Amino acid sequence: SLVDDLRAARRRFSVEFSPAHDEATAQRQWRAVQRLEPLAPVFASVTYGAGGGDRAGSVDLASRLARETTVRPLAHLTAVGQSTAQLADVLDELAAGGVRDVLALRGDPDGDPHAPWEPHPEGLEHADELVRLALQHGADTVAVAAFPLGHPDSPDLDTDLRRLLGKFAAGARCAIAQLTFDVEDFLRLRDRLAAAGCDVPLLPGLLPVTSPRVLEVTRRLTDGHEPSWLHRRLDPFLDDRGAFREEGMRVAVEDGRRLLAEGVEVLHLYSLNAASNVEALVGELGLAGPGGAR
Ligand code: FAD
Repeated sequence: SLVDDLRAARRRFSVEFSPAHDEATAQRQWRAVQRLEPLAPVFASVTYGAGGGDRAGSVDLASRLARETTVRPLAHLTAVGQSTAQLADVLDELAAGGVRDVLALRGDPDGDPHAPWEPHPEGLEHADELVRLALQHGADTVAVAAFPLGHPDSPDLDTDLRRLLGKFAAGARCAIAQLTFDVEDFLRLRDRLAAAGCDVPLLPGLLPVTSPRVLEVTRRLTDGHEPSWLHRRLDPFLDDRGAFREEGMRVAVEDGRRLLAEGVEVLHLYSLNAASNVEALVGELGLAGPGGAR
């Protein structure tokens, strides 16, 4: 199972894709998938409707991974704007497409991610309910999101930790941490879980910020918590694409090395639907799985 593979830690990275909005992106993305497949990631996760993305496209991409590659898909699913019955249908479609593993998320309000959360009137209120629903619909491993700095709706870190533990109590067996560039924040979350007696695999996210456009994406992926030191390191290169790229990659490699030195076994790499940065990190950090091309 996915969680057994995480625990065995013979494969050292996972990779994230998002459904493409147009044919050209879809083709580029699929070439990226084919280039990364030989590096043997533990799984490839496929985002769902994040930032107004295409939901059917997410199920299609995850199913295509299951059908046409040796890469295990992890399908993100959110409770946004759908009734429980509709969510159950999506879970059944995923299962029919050979997708066995699900990242169960609450999601954020469509349109304005910072608006107060309103569950669908016939839907689910929190991710723990989606964990249960996914398991009822035959999911194998269910993963959940974790927040090194606490989720923005959580009043404090203790409450946030209790909610995370609630998702594990509901049956989730691993967690992916929200992207953070401060390795210490990730490690503190790992310590809080360990202190609570919880040993589920927790994956840190790693995104090489190799262009000003990626710096923009970073703001969204970190809920506005991208650290000021990241700007201090990158801003001097805003007018020099090559130097910006090198510095962004250096930051990611430094963070990756620290995480590995701290005993983290699997790193979750954001691909932004392209292969080269992921390949570079896998090469630099020695993350290729067994039989992996590097
Ligand atoms: P929850 O776990 O439900 O938590 C939300 C808030 O409710 C928290 O404050 C929590 O403390 C509280 N809470 C949780 N359970 C309970 C309970 N039982 N009772 C009372 N309060 C509770 N979004 C997308 O739209 N698509 C994606 O593909 C996507 N992928 C993501 C991947 C990762 C790794 C991460 C970290 C986030 C991703 N997101 C995605 C964003 C995510 O949907 C938002 O961060 C959302 O605000 C929280 O989702 P959650 O699953 O953590 O919610």
